[in-house]
Amino acid sequence: MVISIASGKGGTGKTTVACGLASVTNNCVYIDCDVEEPNGHILLKPKITLEESSYKIIPKINNDLCNFCNKCTEVCEFNALLNFKTEIYLIDELCHSCGACTYFCPQKAITEVKKENGKIRIGETSNNILFYDAYLKVGEASAAPLIKKVKNAYKGDRPVIIDSPPGTSCSMLEAVKDSDFCVLVTESTPFGFNDLKLAINVLRQINIPYGIVINKYDENFSLLDEYIHDNQLNLLLRIPFRMDIAESYSKGELPTETVKDYKVMMLDLLEKIKKEIVKKEYA
Ligand code: SF4
Ligand code: SF4
Repeated sequence: MVISIASGKGGTGKTTVACGLASVTNNCVYIDCDVEEPNGHILLKPKITLEESSYKIIPKINNDLCNFCNKCTEVCEFNALLNFKTEIYLIDELCHSCGACTYFCPQKAITEVKKENGKIRIGETSNNILFYDAYLKVGEASAAPLIKKVKNAYKGDRPVIIDSPPGTSCSMLEAVKDSDFCVLVTESTPFGFNDLKLAINVLRQINIPYGIVINKYDENFSLLDEYIHDNQLNLLLRIPFRMDIAESYSKGELPTETVKDYKVMMLDLLEKIKKEIVKKEYA
């Protein structure tokens, strides 16, 4: 069972929900894929047992073999290669390690080499959550290769909770693809509403079943409720905008451990997600 937690924008409380869900899921694995700003460790407080460098594969051009045919610059979707006529120059921070330039080079002038793009950490929390996170190296433009690495670092069959980066870029796509179910966390604001619609669009395109959690719920903001109702979307949970929950989070404490009814909300959310996954399996 792989559950991803995503949101169209930052600041909705996605990580609090992801960590809360992890804390009520027996024997689970939590993977923080928000590699530009991982913060699940603040709430889950794991004991880190392993930290290792991560590498991505980048092309190395042999300008002596190159005839400057431009094939590689044309196939690079990320504009990572520049043709200076006497040299093919790689902006390695933009390279997404797709391998297209190497594959299409008619002169076999490109080989592939490793370059460090971040660090991956593994640990365990006091309540047996196996913990993974990763830090993207400063200046590195592409988070997707590191997200793929940290996702693939766990190979077992325990339930997996993936904390996705916010937004709807290729980083989010990399984090949520292959999930059995995605929880979209939003908030009762115009920005939350707008970015929820963008995130729903992405999940529909990649065919991932999803449900919605409204965090910091404000009943006075009716647009969101109306949209969910009119479009018959799957609303899983409303988490009220409450001082005790906000205080717990701001102190770096997990609300499932400090706020009376938050754990009940997370258990209820987990049950609903499990039912959705079973429904999908028998569909
Ligand atoms: S495809 Fe190969 S030969 Fe052509 S410009 Fe690129 S490196 Fe040079
Ligand atoms: S590996 Fe892909 S992204 Fe990187 S330079 Fe080559 S074509 Fe561009």
